[in-house]
Amino acid sequence: VPLVEVRDLTKDYAEGENVARVLKGVQLTVAQGELVALLGPSGSGKSTLLNILGTLMRPTSGSVRVLGQSLVGAEDLVLTEFRNRHIGFVFQAHLLLPDFTALENVMFPAAARHGRERHTDRARASELLDRVGLSDRRDYLASQLSGGQKQRVAVARSLMNAPELVLADEPTGNLDRESADRVMQLLIDINSSDGTGFLISTHDENIAARCQRQIYMADGRIADDRR
Ligand code: ADP
Ligand code: ADP
Repeated sequence: VPLVEVRDLTKDYAEGENVARVLKGVQLTVAQGELVALLGPSGSGKSTLLNILGTLMRPTSGSVRVLGQSLVGAEDLVLTEFRNRHIGFVFQAHLLLPDFTALENVMFPAAARHGRERHTDRARASELLDRVGLSDRRDYLASQLSGGQKQRVAVARSLMNAPELVLADEPTGNLDRESADRVMQLLIDINSSDGTGFLISTHDENIAARCQRQIYMADGRIADDRR
């Protein structure tokens, strides 16, 4: 079963009395374990597409499946469970909880999924912080970390529930070159060791070039798809 299968996807936003169509018939198949960059000008629909794939937003029409699960017409509760189990997120703004420690932030998706903390969560979160090179920052508050460190915590958090798909919306957009490269290298390493699939929106051609596949969006459609 493909990781992502999108057919004839449209998305309209209400704009006052008018309707703006921002996705205009997207066709996309992504295999499990692919590392895909999503490029295109601002306003071309990248975030909207990622939000729909992440079950954070409903499509207007078309079919959208992730790991065979239809995201169209499924009940909210089904989508929430599916998201918690199978999808990780990294956003441009890391969206960490500033007054919680790095470790607590990483653990958060497991608690969200299971409704409580389990005794294995701490060990799992520690391992993940180790993987992103932040063992020594485990008990720091998120607000005490640098931008690059925060984004690495966000990467660790995205992996907490061992998702098959991680959606990353401009994950390096706020970082300097060195931090951006380090975060990107992490995503590449995770992809090759765990087979986690990634969809990464970016304006950065250097970042995109390190992915296996580059999808270019323009005006609500996929304009080019290169491997
Ligand atoms: P990108 O990520 O490529 O910059 P977006 O998906 O954010 O593109 O935006 C696509 C278009 O949809 C833009 O014209 C944007 O202004 C519009 N848009 C995005 N989110 C909303 C919203 N919540 N309500 C109305 N219009 C929106
Ligand atoms: P499930 O509810 O699917 O049985 P869990 O919620 O316990 O599994 O964990 C989800 C995934 O996270 C597991 O498949 C496993 O890969 C990973 N995982 C959970 N806890 C640990 C841990 N302590 N060490 C390593 N991986 C873990």
